[in-house]
Amino acid sequence: MTAAGRTAVVTGGASGIGAATVRALATEGYRVVVADIDESAARDLARELGDAVTAVRMDVTDEDSVAAGFRTAAGAHVVVHCAGSSIPGALTELELAQWQATLDVCLTGTFLVLEHAGRHVADNASIICLASLNGRQPGTGMASYCAAKAGVLMLVEVAALELAERGIRVNALSPGLVDTPLVAGVALVPGLREEYVENTPLGRSGRPEEIAEAAAFLASDRSGWMTGATIDLNGGAHLRRYPDVLGRVRAMAQTPPNP
Ligand code: NAD
Repeated sequence: MTAAGRTAVVTGGASGIGAATVRALATEGYRVVVADIDESAARDLARELGDAVTAVRMDVTDEDSVAAGFRTAAGAHVVVHCAGSSIPGALTELELAQWQATLDVCLTGTFLVLEHAGRHVADNASIICLASLNGRQPGTGMASYCAAKAGVLMLVEVAALELAERGIRVNALSPGLVDTPLVAGVALVPGLREEYVENTPLGRSGRPEEIAEAAAFLASDRSGWMTGATIDLNGGAHLRRYPDVLGRVRAMAQTPPNP
């Protein structure tokens, strides 16, 4: 089946990897719903891409909002769940509310999307969740994000088992460092970006379009026999080690400002 006549919902579709995925799917001929908490950015993208792309406000931490979004998009053939955020901090200093905020968006948000998308998508649909290299590789200062993304990988496997009876496929994408607003803070910490790249065999960070390309593959029948799987997109970074984020941040805090 071609993409024409198929509908895709992209959560977190207003920025970064989500926005690149919206563009890729729209180019392939899908009707695309950009579902984002940032409604204004979602509308701007929809306006730019034309009639086949629409915008809806969705907060993935709010069950009513997620349920309403997927009821409206009932019968969708593809869901790409990109909404995500992170509050870094040392495990011994992280406040419960900070831990909870990351868990709410990344893990509970994924549960709510799988639950309500699972109810409302078409049979044989494809659901794709953005996990992360941090779902399998620990990083200092990233307790909540690592724990949440490890949870996403397992949720995807459980969902793949449960939804297979309707032919629905559920897969994950696990990117390494991709240049988006989410990781803009990396550039502010001296040496951190360089340490990422040193630990990436292919020697560079990723582009949102490279993740979108894999999302388009998982969305399509070209991946028709894949479910419960994860695609690592990280330039080989999973073969080395994660940078010492906390060490770099602490070193920065101890460096006196230039006179
Ligand atoms: P981004 O910040 O550019 O985009 C995230 C989008 O999610 C934004 O449009 C934001 O408004 C939206 N969002 C945030 N909270 C939301 C909520 N509660 N409800 C609905 N929408 C919400 O980030 P990105 O880098 O494109 O990240 C996309 C996904 O990829 C995330 O799940 C992230 O964890 C994952 N990821 C990113 C990287 C990276 O290096 N950029 C690496 C691995 C995994």
